[in-house]
Amino acid sequence: MSAICASKNLPEELLELLKIGQQLRMQCYRGRFAPSPTGPLHLGNLRTALVSWLKARLNEGEWLLRIDDLDTPRNRSGAIESIQKDLLWLGLDWNGPIVFQSQRIELYMSILSALKSQGKLYPCRCTRRLLAKRNQSQSKEFIYPGTCRELGLSWDIKSGRLPSLRLIVREEFSISSGDVVVRRADGLIAYHLATAADELLLGINEVVRGQDLAKALHSQLAIIDALDQKPVFYRHVPLFFNNDGTKMSKREGGIGIRSLGDNDIRAANVIGYLASSLDLVPNGSVLSALELLSHVRKDKELLEPLLGC
Ligand code: GLU
Repeated sequence: MSAICASKNLPEELLELLKIGQQLRMQCYRGRFAPSPTGPLHLGNLRTALVSWLKARLNEGEWLLRIDDLDTPRNRSGAIESIQKDLLWLGLDWNGPIVFQSQRIELYMSILSALKSQGKLYPCRCTRRLLAKRNQSQSKEFIYPGTCRELGLSWDIKSGRLPSLRLIVREEFSISSGDVVVRRADGLIAYHLATAADELLLGINEVVRGQDLAKALHSQLAIIDALDQKPVFYRHVPLFFNNDGTKMSKREGGIGIRSLGDNDIRAANVIGYLASSLDLVPNGSVLSALELLSHVRKDKELLEPLLGC
């Protein structure tokens, strides 16, 4: 309750939506799987989805499917259908209607304007090239040094370019995240903003996602903090690598169900394969998602080592 009161200076309507999200968070476990539709899911995505689904079902909770389709140039046609088809084929069912971020742009815009009127945003005109150059001179992960923070730059288009908008991040988070881009210079809502906002508005209390997204943690926590909300709990699952040790990618066509090469392959083979790669069942096991769920239910500790932090 105190978190809600602390954010009095947000507009009423937004406060009400955040309050609904908080109430949902308190009702039951609510997890989500949130693929970007940049191609068919690969085995790594499916394995993460499986762990996230198991965690929600073990907790008698809800599991939402959200399609992160804001980055329109990266969306691929047919990907949304193929994501749904593969999840359902594997028995990973979700609760409620699918949430499409592209249908929630007004919500994100209202959050942006609330943050702007609270003086928490500033326009940034650092180009990608400039940032890349700076990045080369840093040995660790690049942290934006706040170059444009005090410059009082224009919010409008100048020389044909919009600025990106950055959130002024409190020191506690900024050591790991720097000031976070919440709207990109191409005008699109940035991934961190939409994701953090959606966890809050959709009442997600635990995010289980791939280890590659652990680097997003501090930026997203910083946005949640800027909205004076209680943090969401994040868990990051180890990645599944290609045979040559490289990271699987949807865009570059990592091994997906349809490319396993065997049209007769059964969902139970894929679940068994994924679950044995996680040491949940012995190699060669063949079982449905529901059978795996009842197996894990007998020993709830089995999932814990996979959930990282
Ligand atoms: N949409 C992101 C992706 O497909 C994942 C977002 C998240 O889980 O936070 O990589």
